[in-house]
Amino acid sequence: MSQPATMFEKIWRRHVVVDRQDGYTLLYVDRHILHDGSFFAFERLKQVGQKVRRPERSFGTPDHYVPTDTRNVAAISDDRQRLLVTSMARHGAETGVTVFDVGDRRQGIVHVMGPEQGITLPGLTMVCGDSHTSTHGALGALAFGIGSSEVTHVLATQSLWQRKPKSMRITVDGQLGFGITGKDVILAIIAKMGAAGAVGHVIEYAGSAIRALSMEGRLTVCNMSIEGGAKAGMIAPDDTTYEYVRGRQFAPKGAAWDAALNQWRSLPSDDGATFDRELSLAGADIAPMVTWGTSPEDAAPITARIPEPSSAPDIAKREGIERALAYQGLTPGTPIDGIKIDRVFIGSCTNSRIEDLREAAKVVKGRKAAVPSWVVPGSGIIKEQAEAEGLDRIFEDAGIEWRHAGCSMCIGVNGETGKPGERIASTSNRNFVGRQGRGVRTHLVSPAMAAAAAVTGTFTDVRKLLPN
Ligand code: SF4
Repeated sequence: MSQPATMFEKIWRRHVVVDRQDGYTLLYVDRHILHDGSFFAFERLKQVGQKVRRPERSFGTPDHYVPTDTRNVAAISDDRQRLLVTSMARHGAETGVTVFDVGDRRQGIVHVMGPEQGITLPGLTMVCGDSHTSTHGALGALAFGIGSSEVTHVLATQSLWQRKPKSMRITVDGQLGFGITGKDVILAIIAKMGAAGAVGHVIEYAGSAIRALSMEGRLTVCNMSIEGGAKAGMIAPDDTTYEYVRGRQFAPKGAAWDAALNQWRSLPSDDGATFDRELSLAGADIAPMVTWGTSPEDAAPITARIPEPSSAPDIAKREGIERALAYQGLTPGTPIDGIKIDRVFIGSCTNSRIEDLREAAKVVKGRKAAVPSWVVPGSGIIKEQAEAEGLDRIFEDAGIEWRHAGCSMCIGVNGETGKPGERIASTSNRNFVGRQGRGVRTHLVSPAMAAAAAVTGTFTDVRKLLPN
């Protein structure tokens, strides 16, 4: 009888083309997803006269550089940005790669588009030239980000040389408390294991609290795996996954669906499978989280205070906290609940899906925004759905800007940034120095916590505002 295997091991084995003696493996890539930053990879391929090997396995959409206040991309004033956005459709037409361009309701953030279209499926290997490709692991795929030259390699060969990562299981058991979301779970995990805690590993998230998450919540958790240093994050497919995938445009249909389902049911890690590392958290202990520093590991419950550098275990950590607090303009010992903010951003591939917008709207309903706030849906389809549910009205009645799909202020390479010195409550995934604009202070929170901050103008425990 064969040894019990982890889900990661099973997917890896099924995709090995060849193992090289130096420890590298050529891995077959099932799906390649591309965004407007992939411009240079397409151009390099053309320069060397190569064709895209399997165009039907590649899908793209412009997201990083698209404006979210208009759909008129011809009016983008920056020549480079306009070129990157408008070239995507041309590259698609030249190579046969499917592109959901601006104006197509399926356009959106690449990590929102993939699952939404049924391009992301259990058991697949998936890559994209973006570190948050780990998002797709929420459906039981092995998905990870690659560099720009690797994007060219995958376009040309549909395969990729890789060293096999180690495996890690993070178990969150128990019931999550009232008002606690997938974002709070992953911030609590990263706070516990550190931003380098999972370097060199593929994480499998397990446990009853993970299983109870919706697909949106699971996508949020897997999205931020990279912020804990992991190569990828995965969750075993189950009925939540199958119900999410069923009927989506590129998902298998009819007899192919039955065959796929049969195969997907064999994916979860076998009983007795061992992981290189294990970590566990109690779901009931997790509170709404807020980051206070300049790394996603600098996260604390809303009920906590800004840490005292003197509490750090060593001098390097102490100096790190001092630097982070100096940048963030925060004083040790200040209660987090009540810190004033200047702006709110609800969006990004972490938290721009329909459930995220519903959670934010629940808090905003009947209240007014106290600071400038944006809601940027993850795709045109989510925008449509939110409008059909009246969520746009709730936001606009509160004075919150309702925008078009794109990455927007998550990274601001399209020019949508905060102002120097502004403190932003953001549902994105990175709070690095300058991530949302020069001198901008980013605090990562869930959509509900961002909405609470929008209507109060301060970090506020959302549990006080949520209807029971
Ligand atoms: S939303 Fe942010 S993290 Fe996600 S793909 Fe866009 S820029 Fe990257």
